[in-house]
Amino acid sequence: MSLHLNSSTKIKLFGVILGILIVCSFATLQFIVLFGVIKPTAYFVPSIVGGLSGFFIATWFNKLSEAKKEAEESHNRLKLVLEGTQTGLWDWFPKTNVVIFDEQWCRLLGYQLDEIEPAFESWQSRVHPKDLEQCYADIKRHIDGETSFYSNIHRMKHKDGHWVYILDRGQIIERDADNQPIRFTGTHTDISQLKEMENALEHSNKRLKQLTLRDGLTGLHNRRALDEHLIQEWGHWERNQTSISVLMVDIDFFKQFNDLYGHIKGDECLKQVAKVLQSSVKRTNDMAARYGGEEFLIILSGVTRTEAFSIAQKIHDDIERLAIPHKNSSIALQVTVSIGINGCDAEQRCRSYQALIEGADKALYEAKQLGRNRTVLYNGCMAK
Ligand code: GH3
Ligand code: MG
Ligand code: MG
Repeated sequence: MSLHLNSSTKIKLFGVILGILIVCSFATLQFIVLFGVIKPTAYFVPSIVGGLSGFFIATWFNKLSEAKKEAEESHNRLKLVLEGTQTGLWDWFPKTNVVIFDEQWCRLLGYQLDEIEPAFESWQSRVHPKDLEQCYADIKRHIDGETSFYSNIHRMKHKDGHWVYILDRGQIIERDADNQPIRFTGTHTDISQLKEMENALEHSNKRLKQLTLRDGLTGLHNRRALDEHLIQEWGHWERNQTSISVLMVDIDFFKQFNDLYGHIKGDECLKQVAKVLQSSVKRTNDMAARYGGEEFLIILSGVTRTEAFSIAQKIHDDIERLAIPHKNSSIALQVTVSIGINGCDAEQRCRSYQALIEGADKALYEAKQLGRNRTVLYNGCMAK
């Protein structure tokens, strides 16, 4: 019959036997020295004392070794987690400016442990100069008790020379009687990959936003972008009471153009006209947008109605220079446009930007009525 004992019971049993043997050996020696003989009954007390002492010593030893094993296991687990998450440890003693870095902390920056001085300088000298100020501010906020833990993202120079994005987190774990920090402990995590993903995402979001604000065919701004721009420019106009002008541009007899040349040629024509309109807006606050099918709107900030009229004349000239044949037009042999202008300034105020556009639309209608291929200025600017 075999007896299966676990290691803890084995250790205790071993302790009991060893205890009995040791104490009984001492008892034997003592009796022989003192009395010259020893009776078997004399082993009764030493056996109990030895057995109990052995048992308690073995139990204590067993507990100690189990605790040590557990500590080792959790240390290994922590090490694995820190390695897996690209995280290093730092332990800063602000009074002496000694900082203990662990192996992983050094490895994040491409160094071996013995290559990094255990000093505050080792961290500070490797932080990107543009990020250092914010680091100090965040550290100070935690030292002053404004934050429950310190957290900061900064770039640090790798041994190879490239920058590594570090998520730095920590906490003061000991303060003196004056509330000054004695020990500040934390972690460094390499978040470069995350940062790269974030940058790529930001870039594609920006591109996506641009795409949603552009007209797919002509590349001009679309109606949505125009509305956003108008709200902004209108606010600016209301505050500063400078001039603002809008030009509504419409291709003449475009339906007939499509009928004769087809939609693909029609699209091509729209693109060429759009290019001319785009070239007429030169300043960042101006905008050329596709308003509808073959209708465009140009917003010119700080431009008077008279100045807008000259710009419209130039558009007519440029479109003429394109010389896109249009045999179905009743007024010319090539593509032409009609333009309606409305504008506001300190004297001629407008109710709203919608009213401003309405005026340009009316002027365009008039230009069509008067025979097309011309510009009309809207006279009755809507009074407030
Ligand atoms: P008017 O001189 O009075 O402006 O006459 P029009 O023929 O230009 O105006 P109308 O509004 O009758 O016709 C506009 C035409 O524009 C009809 C439509 O087929 C064409 N159109 C609108 N959007 C597009 C487009 O994206 N591509 C093409 N090829 N044609 C378009
Ligand atoms: Mg038209
Ligand atoms: Mg039209």
